[in-house]
Amino acid sequence: MSYLVLARKYRPQTFADLVGQEHVSRALTNALTSGRVAHAFIFTGARGVGKTSSARIMAKALNCEQGTSPEPCNVCSACREITEGNAVDVLEIDGASNTGVDDVRELRDTIRYLPARGRYKIVIIDEVHMLSTNAFNALLKTLEEPPPHVKFIFATTEPHKLPITILSRCQRYDFKRISLKKIVARLEDIVRRENISVTESALTMVARKGDGSMRDSLSTLDQVLAFCGDNVLDEDVTNLLGVVDRRLLLETSEAIFAHDAAGVLDAVRRVDAFGYSMRQFCQELIEEFRALAILKAVKQPGELLDLADAELALLREQVAPLTLDDLQRQISLLIKAESEMSLSSFPRLVLEMVLIRAATMAPVIPIGDLLERLRTLEQGLRSGEVVTGQAPRRETAPVSPSRPTASASVAPPRPPPSAVSSEIPSQSPPPAAGNSSGNSSDPWSGFVTYVKEKKARIGAFLEHGHPLGISASKVEVGFPADSFYYSSLSEPDAVATLTSLAREHFGGTPELKLVKLTEAGGNLPPTVHEKKKLHSIESVKQAEDNLKKHPLVAAAVEIFGGKLELEKKANSQ
Ligand SMILES: [Zn+2]
Repeated sequence: MSYLVLARKYRPQTFADLVGQEHVSRALTNALTSGRVAHAFIFTGARGVGKTSSARIMAKALNCEQGTSPEPCNVCSACREITEGNAVDVLEIDGASNTGVDDVRELRDTIRYLPARGRYKIVIIDEVHMLSTNAFNALLKTLEEPPPHVKFIFATTEPHKLPITILSRCQRYDFKRISLKKIVARLEDIVRRENISVTESALTMVARKGDGSMRDSLSTLDQVLAFCGDNVLDEDVTNLLGVVDRRLLLETSEAIFAHDAAGVLDAVRRVDAFGYSMRQFCQELIEEFRALAILKAVKQPGELLDLADAELALLREQVAPLTLDDLQRQISLLIKAESEMSLSSFPRLVLEMVLIRAATMAPVIPIGDLLERLRTLEQGLRSGEVVTGQAPRRETAPVSPSRPTASASVAPPRPPPSAVSSEIPSQSPPPAAGNSSGNSSDPWSGFVTYVKEKKARIGAFLEHGHPLGISASKVEVGFPADSFYYSSLSEPDAVATLTSLAREHFGGTPELKLVKLTEAGGNLPPTVHEKKKLHSIESVKQAEDNLKKHPLVAAAVEIFGGKLELEKKANSQ
C-alpha cells in the first residue's frame, strides 16, 4: 500500500475541518445557506493555509448530489471525484504553468458548455497572479458576463499583483496565518489518530518550523516521522530540523538574569557545538526577550504572542522577578549585536561579548530614587547633620533573589537609618565604623551627644577633644596646647558641669582629666568633629560614585562619547 502523505491524508474535507480560518468558513457557509453565492471568489493568503482546500470544499458544496449545502456529504460520487481531483466539472488550473492568452481562450470555450453532471462548472485557478496581462484581459471578458452555470475560484499568495479590474469583480477572502497553538492542536489530533506518541514540545518545534502554514507543518511532521519512526524524541527533532532548542534559549536567558557569565559562555559553546548559526540564535533570543517584555507589560498578551501554553507558563514564571527597564536594555543590546553580527567575521565573539555584558549589567535604579538620595544628602550637609543612611528605595518591581550580588555594586549596603534613632545613648553597642553622627555607636560619641543635649556650648567644644581614655573611673580628653577649646573647658564652672555630666552618663565617679597635647595629630583617636567631616566627604564621594555608575549616566557617556565631570554647586552653608 502506498503511503499517503499526512498533508493529503488529513486535508480538510468540510468547512468545519478548516483550521484557523473561521472567518472564511462562516462567510462561505452563510453564502451557501442563503443561496447568495457570488460567481467569482478570490482567496488570498500565505501558502499552506487552506486556500485550495477551501476551493475544493466549495466545489463539493455546490455540486454535491445531496444538494447544495455548506456541509457536502463527501460520500457521493460527485464529492469523491472532487476529493480525488478527477471531477469533470471542476477545472483545476495551475496559473504558474498556464499563463498564456491561449490557455484562457481555451478555458472560455470549455466553460461555454453546460456542466456534464453537476449543477456548476467550477474553475479553480491556483497562483492566478502568474497569468500574463493578455490572459487577464481575456479572463476579464468572461468575468464581466459569466454564464450562470460557472463559478470561478482564484487563489493567490500575492493579491497585489492582480489587476484591479479582476479584483473588483471577485468576492475576496483573506486567509490568515494559522496560529502556533492551533497548528499544535491539529498535529496532536493527527498523531493521536496515527497512534504515534510525540511530545508537545516536539510538535511545537514542528509547528514553529511550519511558520503559520498547516501544509508545511504536516510535511515537516512527515519528515520527522520518517526519521524517528514511532518513537519521537525531542533531541531527534532538534537535530533533524536544525532549530534552536527552546531549552537552550531558556537556559541562556536564565543565565543572563542570574548574572552568570560562565553560564552564558557555556550556552554559546553549545550553540557552536550543535552547529547552529550564531546570528539565528541571537534572533531567537531577541524573540524570547520580546515575549518576556510583552508578558511583563501586559497581563493578557492574547494574539501578541504566538506561543504554546506550556511555554507561556514557563516564561511567565521567568519574568516575574524582572523589571521592564532591565529587559528593554537587554533587548537593545541584543538587537545591536545582531546587526553587528551580520557584518562581523567573528559572530561568536560578538555574541559572547554581548551576552557577558547583558549578564553583568547593573540593574536600573530609578532616577527618582537617586535624586531623592542626593537631596537628602544635600539637606544633611546644609543643616550640619550627617546623613547616615540611604533614602528609602521605591521599588517599581520586585527584585529577584539572584540580584543582590549586582545591586551591591551600585548601592553598597549601609546601615538603615531606623536602626540609629531607637537606641539609648548610654547603652552603647560596639563601636561601628562610619557612623559618627554623635549618637551612641561608641562611648565617646555617645557622651559628646549627651553633653550637647544638656549644655550645647560645652558639647560643641568637646567635639574637638581627642578621647584618650574613657572608662568608668576616668574620662581623659586631649586638646592641642594652644587650643581655645582647652582654655574654655578648663574654666572651673565648665569642669564642674562636665564632671557631673560624666557621672550621670557613665555612672560611678569618673575623674575628668583635660590634657594639653604637645604635638598634633598622628596616632591620636579622632575627635567627633573630625569623624563628622570625614563622613561627609565619604558620603559625597559615595553619591558621586553611585551617579557615575547609574546606567542612564553611563549610557549618556557612551552615546555622547564624552567624559563625566561632576560639578559642585556652591552651597549656601
Ligand atoms: Zn456529496
